[in-house]
Amino acid sequence: MSLEIIPIFCNEKNMANYAYIIHEPSLSLTLVIDAAEANPLFAALDRLQLKPDYILTTHHHFDHVGGNLSLKKRFGAKIIAPEKEFSHVPGADIAVSETQPLNLKGLEIKVIDAPGHTAGHILYHLPEAQKLFTGDVLFNLCIGGLFEGTPTQMFNSLQKVKRLPDNTEIFPGHEYTRACLPPQIKETPEFTAYLNKMRQRENGQLAPATLAEEKMFNPYLRAETLADFINEP
Ligand code: ZN
Ligand code: FE
Repeated sequence: MSLEIIPIFCNEKNMANYAYIIHEPSLSLTLVIDAAEANPLFAALDRLQLKPDYILTTHHHFDHVGGNLSLKKRFGAKIIAPEKEFSHVPGADIAVSETQPLNLKGLEIKVIDAPGHTAGHILYHLPEAQKLFTGDVLFNLCIGGLFEGTPTQMFNSLQKVKRLPDNTEIFPGHEYTRACLPPQIKETPEFTAYLNKMRQRENGQLAPATLAEEKMFNPYLRAETLADFINEP
C-alpha cells in the first residue's frame, strides 16, 4: 500500500473547509472525503489526472456536500453517506454505519458512528494506514458545535476516537487551528512542533496532527469525565 492523501482547501464560502483526495495506486482507487466544493476539487483532480470512484460524506451540512452532484455527474462517482442522514446528502447512493464496514476495491475503511455535531455524523477510519477523517466532530484544538446532538453524545463520540491508536493521523473537516489557539501558548518543544504543522497546513501542505498530539493539546479530548467536558468553555 502506498496511500496518498491530498488536502484540498475549499474556501469559496469563507468556511475554511477541507476536502481530501485519497489515492491508492496499487488498487487503482481514488476517493474524495467530503466534497466541500466542486471547483477546487475539479482543479486538483485534473492536475493529478485522477477520477474519483467514490465520494465519502461525513455529514449532511452544506459545506461538506457542495461538490457532490457535480463530481457525481462528471466522474460517475458513487456517493457514500451516513445511513441516518442518507436522505439529506445530495446524490447519496450507498448508506453506511458502524455495523457495515466498507471495503472499496480492497481498501478497508471502518465507519465510526459519532453523533453530536449532527445526529448521524460518521467518521472514516483507515486502520491499516492509521488515518482518521473526523469531519466536524474533532478539529485541531477544538470540536464542532452541537447542532443536532447533546454534550453526552459528543463526549461519547470523542471517547471512541481516544481509544484509537495514538499515532493515528487526524484529518478534520476545517482548518480552524489558529482560531482555537489558547490565549497563552506554552513554548514546549511538543507544542512548537504542533504549531509548525499548523503553519505547514496553512501553506497547503499535508501535515496532520496525531491523536497523541490532540490528546495532549485539545481541551475537549483532555477532559476525562462528562462533567469536565461540559465545563470546557
Ligand atoms: Zn457541519
Ligand atoms: Fe463544516
